[in-house]
Amino acid sequence: MDYLVRFVGDKYNVIGLACITTGLVNEARLLHGTSRTASAALGRALTAGLLMGALLKRGQRVGLKFEGSGPLKKIIVEADNGGTVRGFVGVPSVEVPLNDEKLNVSGALGNEGSLTVIKDLGLKEPYRGIVKLLTGEIAEDIAYYFSESEQIPSAVGLGVFVKPDGKVSAAGGFLIQSLPPSEERTVEQLMENIRSMPFVTDLLREGKTPEDILAMIFSGIPYHLLGRRDLSLRCTCSRERIERVLISLGSEELQRIISDQGETDVTCEFCRTSYHFTSKELEDLRREISPAH
Ligand SMILES: [Zn+2]
Repeated sequence: MDYLVRFVGDKYNVIGLACITTGLVNEARLLHGTSRTASAALGRALTAGLLMGALLKRGQRVGLKFEGSGPLKKIIVEADNGGTVRGFVGVPSVEVPLNDEKLNVSGALGNEGSLTVIKDLGLKEPYRGIVKLLTGEIAEDIAYYFSESEQIPSAVGLGVFVKPDGKVSAAGGFLIQSLPPSEERTVEQLMENIRSMPFVTDLLREGKTPEDILAMIFSGIPYHLLGRRDLSLRCTCSRERIERVLISLGSEELQRIISDQGETDVTCEFCRTSYHFTSKELEDLRREISPAH
């Protein structure tokens, strides 16, 4: 039921993406046991990751790392071009007072800190862009990243509605970009449409679809629908990947784990899957690093 659609302008180089992510944000909050505010923060970041992933080419990945001065500490999200995303927050149980009767995401993350965007474009080195947090509300920070780091004027809207019982009843967002050569009147029209529009969460709760939201934003601008894709929460971890992480700790550290604990459980931060390693398995990994010992 979660999906993303893409609109492009017929005459001018503007693209619009919009998505509904209610199902996967609910899945994520159950997986991580997030508080209402942490659910909103994680949900907005997961949605942003999927929107940014949709701008990439097949097989490419994007990572978002929000690090803030607030009690939530951080939000980590990774998405691919195929519509899958995974993510977690630093302190899932965090609660901060409401701000004007709304969940206070910037109060949880903090409005001082940084947003790092890492893009794995299949090149030798990943692309990395870092900007200061603008508001800590996520959407403004993503728009600021695009204008500062990639010089692409963008408008971003993200919304997660969390009911008093903790359930997420609406989540989604949009991303609009004007690529060169930009046409000022079209950009003005898009901004005007966005300014006069209700919040994303209100639209989704009224039953509006991603297509409806983009149609409102593109009102007065000729466009066509370019595609639609399903979205899901999915982790890329595996036992083999966890083994590589253990190997990367180095022979000495592995020896210390074997001596101190004998066996160990490694939990994937993204999906909470736990991988058990016996001391024999750890010893085998250690031998892979230094076969002589
Ligand atoms: Zn995992």
